[in-house]
Amino acid sequence: MRIYDIIIKKKRGEELTDEEIRFFVNGYTDGSLPDYQISALLMAICFSGMNERETCTLTDAIAKSGDCVDLSAFGHLSADKHSTGGVGDKTTLIVAPLAAALGCKVAKMSGRGLGHTGGTIDKLEAFPGYRTTLSPEEFFKNVRDIGVSVIDQSGNLAPADKKLYALRDVTGTVDSIPLITSSIMGKKLPSGAHNIVLDVKYGSGAFMKSAEDAEALAEEMVKIGKLSKRQVAALVTDMDTPLGFAIGNALEIKEAIAALSGNGPEDLVEVSVSIAATMAQLALGLSSDEAHTAARSLLFDGTALEKFKEWISAQGGEVAYIDNPQMLPTAKYTLDVIAEGDGYIEKMNAEAIGVSAMELGAGRKKKDDKIDFAAGIVLKKKTGDRVTQGEIIATLHSSAEAKLSPAAEIFKSALTIGRKPIEKKKIIYKTIL
Ligand code: URA
Repeated sequence: MRIYDIIIKKKRGEELTDEEIRFFVNGYTDGSLPDYQISALLMAICFSGMNERETCTLTDAIAKSGDCVDLSAFGHLSADKHSTGGVGDKTTLIVAPLAAALGCKVAKMSGRGLGHTGGTIDKLEAFPGYRTTLSPEEFFKNVRDIGVSVIDQSGNLAPADKKLYALRDVTGTVDSIPLITSSIMGKKLPSGAHNIVLDVKYGSGAFMKSAEDAEALAEEMVKIGKLSKRQVAALVTDMDTPLGFAIGNALEIKEAIAALSGNGPEDLVEVSVSIAATMAQLALGLSSDEAHTAARSLLFDGTALEKFKEWISAQGGEVAYIDNPQMLPTAKYTLDVIAEGDGYIEKMNAEAIGVSAMELGAGRKKKDDKIDFAAGIVLKKKTGDRVTQGEIIATLHSSAEAKLSPAAEIFKSALTIGRKPIEKKKIIYKTIL
């Protein structure tokens, strides 16, 4: 078998056989096939696409390239969630304990921030003492006893995806439905959960810019999950505007604690409740109404907050920080962004706001950059809100004073303020069960 022939075949729009797909995935992972030939093949896949069988085989080859976690000890109760990435997306911090309170077993591996998007592991590290690495025994014990544990993605989970994703990132081959599907499901399947809920984002802060493209991606991932004998559902949700009001690691932890205490922003609460409820629907066989009612009540009666405390303290974080969130890292410097005139916020480009937060120190520009856990943005206004001249639109936080002004310029470039009121969009565009 020659990689050259496989490239030509896909360039002509022909189907690849299962053997050809496994040949290129395995050959690229073990280093026997070079970047330049795999780049050409990835570009051919972007243009010619893949059918369901090809996508399924590609996903399986990626999933089997490394370790697989065995969660069969938890029967059909194991449940996981995955977000395709966004700005201000702290849902895992709320969903994981809420789904555990509902009775799911949440054994979750999460990642770090990527570009303008945040990552759950960076957020959890804002908690002094929280251990993101546990022994397999401790991880399983916490899931068994508490119902939830969240750790850093193991080094050997889907190594094929690590290489392919890094190559796609620099060759303009990220935005392809079969490639995104196989990348995400190739990591989710070996993570072991029987039930998986995908939060597929669309809008300015997401990979998928339109709701229709996000829906097509969601449908494909649900199909591939089912072909792999898992129960998979997807929510297609809005990421045109950041989720909630807080962006940045410690700021997002504080907002998640507020949500778990019954004081969360409406959009964040709605998405979190819906994801947790859908996990419970799949894992426990509840109806949608039963699951949503139970999730809301466990969020608002403090049960999910208690579960959050159990989870965080079992991984080394001190409960005192949850009882007194003001003890969490707090920035030395702040700067308010002020409205220069009257009007309505027509658009808040989520990607630019994510870049502004990264500029403040909340994310990494280079792989080895150190995160400033206190850095980030607290929005006072969101898309659709009215603003009057002199009003605060957002407050920027950083431990480095010099970062505030450049970040404020980027933040301002994200805003479009118009004269007429606009209709606020629904946060959940579609649920695919
Ligand atoms: N997230 C992933 O893990 N992979 C992609 O291809 C896109 C988003």
